[in-house]
Amino acid sequence: MRQRAVDGLTRQRWICDSPQQPIRQLGDKSYINFSSNDYLGLAADARLVEAMINALNTQGVGSGASHLTAGHHRAHHQLEEALAEFTGREKALVFSSGYMANLGVITALMGKDDAIFQDKLNHASLLDAAKLSDAASRRFPHLDYTALDRMLSASSSQQRLVVSDGVFSMDGDRVDGRRLADLCQQHKAWLMLDDAHGFGVLGEQGGGCAELEGLNQQQLPILVGTLGKAFGTSGAFVAGSAVLIDTLVQFSRTYIYTTAMPPAIAQATLTSLTIVQSESWRREKLNTLIAKFRQGCESLGIPLMHSTTPIQPILVGESELAVSLSEALKEAGFWITAIRPPTVPLGMARLRVTLTASHTEAQVEHLLNVLADQWSQLDAQN
Ligand SMILES: *Cc1c(COP(=O)(O)O)cnc(C)c1O
Repeated sequence: MRQRAVDGLTRQRWICDSPQQPIRQLGDKSYINFSSNDYLGLAADARLVEAMINALNTQGVGSGASHLTAGHHRAHHQLEEALAEFTGREKALVFSSGYMANLGVITALMGKDDAIFQDKLNHASLLDAAKLSDAASRRFPHLDYTALDRMLSASSSQQRLVVSDGVFSMDGDRVDGRRLADLCQQHKAWLMLDDAHGFGVLGEQGGGCAELEGLNQQQLPILVGTLGKAFGTSGAFVAGSAVLIDTLVQFSRTYIYTTAMPPAIAQATLTSLTIVQSESWRREKLNTLIAKFRQGCESLGIPLMHSTTPIQPILVGESELAVSLSEALKEAGFWITAIRPPTVPLGMARLRVTLTASHTEAQVEHLLNVLADQWSQLDAQN
């Protein structure tokens, strides 16, 4: 604790008084929020609110029990069927969060004679899941599939599982799913993608990396998506073969030993799913804002990362500098969190800017103007 403070790495919570939307209210202060994962602007959508209120009126608040006892409601089941159809998989299983989905899948499938191969920059929940399983755990350098190929060739483990984020949460770059699928087929390994940041955002209909790269169930047997980001609600799901899902129902501890999500959330997510599929203008608008932001930063000489997704981090380097920039932006009315070690490697601190379909072009322009000021002050100091 003390060392973290000395290093300037203490994390802090801020109390938000408004719904998740571009204007973020904290007490009597308001900020333009560029730190949200509500990529399609659905978290406070009136239709989701209405769907949830209707469900609350007919089904109450709590699910009351775990899925295998008495807590599996019709809305959960309908959501699973809708997600299976949307992703083109035989079945889907809804979890209370993405963290739990990842833990539940990996610990259910992998045991002590098995090996897990993960991208170095995979989400913490995937790394924790591997630790919790008894399998051997290996990490390959970020997006280095030649290294992965070598590791798979050298492995004699019984069951091999390759795991990757679809869109990397702190960098915004993407997996090469086709390449991974080919490698896995070649080495008889299973492939699992955690598409928390791609689901809803990528693909013509929002089907994420799997849709974008045209990966079917055979090529990508284990697909995880979350519902608390682009879908604007809460929870997560795993989609795959009937055998996979039936196995998870029997053996996935984070599915079995926890209270099912409130059915009203499942009901609201069904509404969200139809909006995600039908309102492709949200993805188009998002892409327009992403292009605008990138062009703006490029012309200002602000260092961005290799990302075409709504996650557009500005690479700063030192933690102190990232924090002071974040503070200065706050003064100017912007909410943009500094991401520091251990979430990212040492010396790679950044401002994680995320864009959403509910931002306006004017808000993005305003941000670019303020960033231009900050950057010229930095240049003057150096
Ligand atoms: C957010 C996230 C999760 C966790 O999902 P929750 O539903 O928030 O628990 C898992 N994986 C990745 C890549 C994420 O970004």
